[in-house]
Order: sequence, then structure tokens, then C-alpha cells
Amino acid sequence: MIKIHTLDLYFQKENHSIASYLIETQQGPILIETGPMSTFEKLKEEIEKIGYQVKDIENILLTHIHFDHAGAAWKFAEHGAKIFVHPIGVPHLQHPEKLWNSAAQIYGEDMNTLWGEMKPIPEDQLDGVKDGQTIEFGDVEVEVIYTPGHAVHHNAYKIGDVIFTGDVGGVRINNGPVVPPCPPPDINIELWKQSIDKLRSLKPEALYLTHYGKQENPNEVFDELEIVLDQWANYIKPFYEDNIPSDKIVPLFVEFTEKQFKEKGLEKDQIQTYEYANPSWMSVNGLLRYWKLKDQGRI
Ligand SMILES: [Zn+2]
Repeated sequence: MIKIHTLDLYFQKENHSIASYLIETQQGPILIETGPMSTFEKLKEEIEKIGYQVKDIENILLTHIHFDHAGAAWKFAEHGAKIFVHPIGVPHLQHPEKLWNSAAQIYGEDMNTLWGEMKPIPEDQLDGVKDGQTIEFGDVEVEVIYTPGHAVHHNAYKIGDVIFTGDVGGVRINNGPVVPPCPPPDINIELWKQSIDKLRSLKPEALYLTHYGKQENPNEVFDELEIVLDQWANYIKPFYEDNIPSDKIVPLFVEFTEKQFKEKGLEKDQIQTYEYANPSWMSVNGLLRYWKLKDQGRI
């Protein structure tokens, strides 16, 4: 029986927003996702609660390199950890300045409080892992599943009968609705659906979402995700066609999704937690970019 611990990082002081997973193996504990640097102290605390130290974590698997998943990986690398990520993500972690600066342009002064620092990880501690590859940690074997759609550098990881889905399995908080996180620049609805089909075909018994937690009914999650993915993309399409700027779309999109959330029984504070895990303005911009690239025949 594989021992999986769900670590709540209390991102923005909200519970059940971002998770990191600690898995006990014969080769010591491994982590899937580190969360951002801004929640590192919380992650450290959670690791210590289980009886380990940061330096005991020698291996980390990242589903992709977005801050909320990979931002604190460098801190573990400083203690010697090896970081596994899709090969496209490797150079970004080696030279995070570009990643950080482009995000800083968007977040401005909030950058440090929201995400925190990101320092380079030495090349020899980064291991690019591709679809179909398996990584062994003593008794625990991890299968790498390339799952683009949310990001071009996105892997899911299968251990036994369960899959750690990163963001390709959607966001679902406290058994609420399933929604697709759609930040720029890589959103590709067709590829995302192919990735969902790929995960479905593996017939997992459970999913572990980064946002947030174990899901015992994978098909239900996938079904709802596919529906909402289309709904959101189709909602944005006419705005793209009419050349409406994103800041005009965001309040309308918020209204649209709030209505969806309310129909599904969510209260105001629960909607807020979704907004922290998956900001509306990000999805608006990500989906606008998707339609633009599609229009230009680039995807
Ligand atoms: Zn995420």
C-alpha cells in the first residue's frame, strides 16, 4: 500500500487551494509539486509534521513549471534534491529569470507576496522526463504521462492505480464543481481533451488534483471538466471575434462563472477560494490567446 500524504499549503491563507503530495518510498520521501516559494514555510512545517526534514526530500516530481506548482523547487535543490519535469520545462527552471520577469510584469508589486522568489536550479539536478518513461524509487514506480493542453510542458504521474494530474485534471475544491484553469500562453482545448482521453484510458481508481485533493470518481471529474472547458472556451470566442479587450471581458466572465457556481450550490466564500486557485482574468487571457492562435492557424 503506497502511503500518500496530502499537504495543504494554505495559499493566500485559504485552505484547500494548493496541494503538495508527499509519498513515502523505500528510497525516502518524494514530493509531487512544491507549491510556490511564498508557501515554503508552510510546506516545511507539513513535511516536519510527518516526521521528515526538507533535506530528506531527495526527489521531486513537478507536473509543470507554473509558480503554483514549481515555485519552491529550487529551495529543495539547494539541499541537493533532484527535480523531475517535462524536458520543455528544464531550461525554464535552469534560468527562471524570464519566467519570473514576465510574471512580474503582470503581478507587479504583488509578485513577492503572491509567489515569492525563484532561483536557478543547476542543470545536473534537473531531469527531463517524457511520456511512457518510468522512474523507480525503491518500491514505488512512477509512470510519466505527457498531458499537454493546459501547458506544453505538462506531465501527469501515475503511481499504482492513481494519477497525480497537476492542472490537466482540472480544479475542484471541497467536492464543488470541476473547472479548467486556463492561464496563457499554452491553452489548447483539442490537446487538453486528448490528454483527458489518455488519462481516462488508464482507468485510474483515483485522481490527486493539485487544486485540490483526492478524487474518488475520476470519470465524473473528466466528464464535467470536458463540458466546462467547452463552455468557457465558447463563452470567450465571440469576444475574441469582436476584438473586445480582456479587461472589458473579465467582469462579464466573472458574472458568467459566478452564475455557474451558484447554480451548482456554491456560497460566496467558496467561489472566492476558486478564484484564488484559478483567477478569472488568467482564464480570460489564456482563452483569448487560444482563439487567436487558432485563428492564425498556429495551433
Ligand atoms: Zn495550477
